[in-house]
Amino acid sequence: MRIPLIAGNWKMNTTLTEAVTLVNAMKPRLDAVQKVEKLVCPPFISLAAAADVLKGTTIKLGAQNCHFMEKGAYTGEVSPTMLAGICEYVILGHSERRQYFGDTNEVVNKKIKAALAAGLKPILCVGERLEENEAGKTGDVVTGQLTGSLTGIDYDTRLVIAYEPVWAIGTGKAATAEQANDTIGICRSVCAGLYGKAAESIRILYGGSVTAANATELMRKPEIDGALIGGASLKPDEFVSIAQQTSDLL
Ligand code: PEP
Repeated sequence: MRIPLIAGNWKMNTTLTEAVTLVNAMKPRLDAVQKVEKLVCPPFISLAAAADVLKGTTIKLGAQNCHFMEKGAYTGEVSPTMLAGICEYVILGHSERRQYFGDTNEVVNKKIKAALAAGLKPILCVGERLEENEAGKTGDVVTGQLTGSLTGIDYDTRLVIAYEPVWAIGTGKAATAEQANDTIGICRSVCAGLYGKAAESIRILYGGSVTAANATELMRKPEIDGALIGGASLKPDEFVSIAQQTSDLL
């Protein structure tokens, strides 16, 4: 069985002090949620402090990006090796990285390889833009992103995929549970083409305006193995509720 992953992407929000306050505000209730894996991804500068707060809990920690080189003259970048001592997961290929920071499939591919080599668990994000969705290209887009980002990467139990339609991110307009389930089904078929039967054990999350109000409907779909959550992950009550609702379905 695929254990659902409920992941919070805090994006470029929270100062160090605010991050510590936020993680403390979630800690007891989130820690108590059973049967699902819980993950928070604060900004780089708060990872070490969050790791301290989360020590001894069941809540996992992740980063939102990394570089593909191990070290060197890459001013301002953070390498997977640096992260590996602090956190377990790293989000890669988020649509905001693809849109604003030049993270092409080739770059994402290098980052996934480097993250795995450093011992991190990558969460590969894919998803179509509104115009692609409206042109009926969703399947083609996610297929291209998955095959491009996973080129030369063997099946690895640590790999997680997140289907995040760009039009649903931060808009309050989540995909319907059926849409999300169908596209995640396509993602799984692409993985089956790459990895055969092992694709059945890859967790594929849905992301895009997940809230406490729509979580149960989305998470009860058979192909959806958890959620990648932006806005609602900054609200302890919402985030804990999404995790608890997912747990209650098991
Ligand atoms: C995200 O940033 O990955 C995301 C899904 O954001 P939101 O939940 O705010 O739509």
